[in-house]
Amino acid sequence: MFLCWACEGLSFENERVQGLIRTIFGDVELSDGPILAHEHLQIDLSHNKGEDNVLSLDEESVIIDDLRYVKDVYGLQAVADLSVPGGGRNPKILARISQQVGLHVICATGFYWDTVPDIAIKNSLAALRDIMIGEITRGIGETDLRCGTIKIGTDQTEPSGIFEKIFRAAAAASIMTGTSIVTHTTEPEQALWQLDVLEDAGVDLSHVLISHLHKMKNFTEILKVAERGAFIGIDQIGFKKGPTIEQVADIVVRAIDNGLSNQLILSSDIARKSRLRANGGVGYATSFSEFLPLLRQRGISETQINVMMSDNPRKIYCIRNDLTKVGIEQ
Ligand SMILES: [Zn+2]
Repeated sequence: MFLCWACEGLSFENERVQGLIRTIFGDVELSDGPILAHEHLQIDLSHNKGEDNVLSLDEESVIIDDLRYVKDVYGLQAVADLSVPGGGRNPKILARISQQVGLHVICATGFYWDTVPDIAIKNSLAALRDIMIGEITRGIGETDLRCGTIKIGTDQTEPSGIFEKIFRAAAAASIMTGTSIVTHTTEPEQALWQLDVLEDAGVDLSHVLISHLHKMKNFTEILKVAERGAFIGIDQIGFKKGPTIEQVADIVVRAIDNGLSNQLILSSDIARKSRLRANGGVGYATSFSEFLPLLRQRGISETQINVMMSDNPRKIYCIRNDLTKVGIEQ
């Protein structure tokens, strides 16, 4: 049985999680079906990665077409856009895409790391916490649109004071709102530092997703993250850099063989124009059309695939609302 301490009172059937997910339009209870847990529908990383690393208003219509295709062919239920303010996040466009496609979209609050924005440098931990809480509970800017997860990360340097402030602010916002935390690792070996800070700040690590762990050079390091209870992000499926798609499939099989299927998150982290279907890429279908067949060839069952594509994303994005158990002063 899945231990979601703050999901008590919600119904569970056959270990299927029925918790509420906070989409950009509000809380919904999703039916069974796949969720892409780490994608970008709008993003701007052009300042350090070039013009291809931008998804903006110009791409809105082709992204809508792309997502319609994935919904129609593969039954996609929801997608998490993990861009944050300063990184090209655009809630109004996300809302339009959600409506046009008929797809649930989870929007992230949080702070980017490369480079860390002034707002995160200048503000206190409490102020950063309150910015995130506001976007989750009241709305983004002047809108009623809301965030349903917290995205934070560390850059390529050794984590330092500014990152600890951001992580502790995110921890407090997560505990007070019941939303999950998704972290970016520029170096996957930073995962244990991230978990240490979040755990010390009181976060239940079973509500944390550490991204990009397929890049871990030593598989035993993935096991160490898993032992802490966090979700394991195998989430850059189709990336040209890093391990090949076949190597990533081997990592997933090895992780499943080690009993980690309940902690694996599969997604393709689309963040480039060139990856969209309209531009000759595979787009948001990548996980389904390119990767799952490799897992099936390696003997992974439909039940296990359903756990990774459907159950696990629900667990990470379910809102956990029981604040009494963590003793938070409000
Ligand atoms: Zn990403």
